[in-house]
Amino acid sequence: MESHNTPTLFDSSSPSPNHFKKKLVLIGGGHSHAIALKLWGMDSIPSTDLILISDVEQTPYSGMLPGHVAGFYSYTETHIDLRNLAKFAGAKLIIDRAVDLDLNNHKIICESGKQIEFDYLSLDIGSTPQTITIPGANKYAIPAKPVPEFLKAWYELKQEAISNSTQPISLVIVGGGAGGVELALNMQACLRKILDRPQDNLQIHLVHRGDRLLSGHNNWVSNKLKKILLERGIKLHLEQEVIEVLSDRINCKSGFSIQYDRVFWVTQATAPSWIEQSQLATNERGFVLVTDTLQSVSHPQIFAAGDIATMIDHKRPKAGVFAVRQGQPLFHNWQQILTEQPLTKQP
Ligand SMILES: Cc1cc2nc3c(=O)[nH]c(=O)nc-3n(C[C@H](O)[C@H](O)[C@H](O)COP(=O)(O)OP(=O)(O)OC[C@H]3O[C@@H](n4cnc5c(N)ncnc54)[C@H](O)[C@@H]3O)c2cc1C
Repeated sequence: MESHNTPTLFDSSSPSPNHFKKKLVLIGGGHSHAIALKLWGMDSIPSTDLILISDVEQTPYSGMLPGHVAGFYSYTETHIDLRNLAKFAGAKLIIDRAVDLDLNNHKIICESGKQIEFDYLSLDIGSTPQTITIPGANKYAIPAKPVPEFLKAWYELKQEAISNSTQPISLVIVGGGAGGVELALNMQACLRKILDRPQDNLQIHLVHRGDRLLSGHNNWVSNKLKKILLERGIKLHLEQEVIEVLSDRINCKSGFSIQYDRVFWVTQATAPSWIEQSQLATNERGFVLVTDTLQSVSHPQIFAAGDIATMIDHKRPKAGVFAVRQGQPLFHNWQQILTEQPLTKQP
């Protein structure tokens, strides 16, 4: 981990060449930043210090993650190597976790205690499923994010199945959005190849609070996926709200209960609390409110993209596909602000 104490802009006490450099700091190597870093590598602004703070060296590509769970793609195929990408972009990579922002002094506080100054800041740190409100969920459920922790739990489960392929397994997946449906189908695809007599030995339950799956999509999509899940023998429990997670079962408001060996949590996306605690304007779920230029509505020197950002003028689902689409306009607007040109609105 490296420290960054380059002089702030227009500090007359240290007339080094770095003196006039502007510092653009990125937090998180999510989808938008990955695209923007690649574009920066092809067309950089030399008078800029570019720094990437990431808590991982390998960041997952969400569209391929379910395929990795199914066993179709390797870990390497589904992850972006941020060390290589940062090198290509000429960015300094700091492996650390941002835990706070001191916006008055333009500083990022990291878990290691390091403080990093910025002139411009860009956030692409994703989101995690909401667990805190359900008793026992934090202790017993495995959230689908952060992905490294999820994959660790998934690899352990797979190894147990390989070591004892006659042992029945019951999995509960909570959340009937795209992530939950994808995990149910892909976990089944993988474990069916491992377990003996999988029709008898594998039970996958998908529990969803709503009366239909993928509520953000139209009825055709929702019905089609319901049909596929039922044809594949996945047990679907609609209109069941989990109110308690115990060490071996979940309890629903209706009194319905399911025993499990593992429970996975893929519910509504939520933002980390340190963002809400900063002075950045956020919505009621803690996501950074941004304009069409991807600038914070309260702090225009701060950009946000991907799941962590909520555009005030466009309702967009929290999905990797939108984070990818924001990569190019984000890069463009970094360049515009750094060269003091007018910023462009995202179409
Ligand atoms: C099971 C599952 C399946 C999904 N499948 C799909 C799909 O098929 N298609 C689709 O479009 N979407 C899918 N999604 C949604 C998708 O994962 C997210 O919308 C997408 O990852 C958001 O991208 P992002 O760039 O905002 O952040 P992320 O991809 O989450 O990247 C954020 C990065 O920031 C890092 N980071 C986080 N906090 C910090 C910090 N404090 N300091 C430093 N670094 C930090 C993280 O380690 C990570 O590398 C799925 C989600 C789940 C849970």
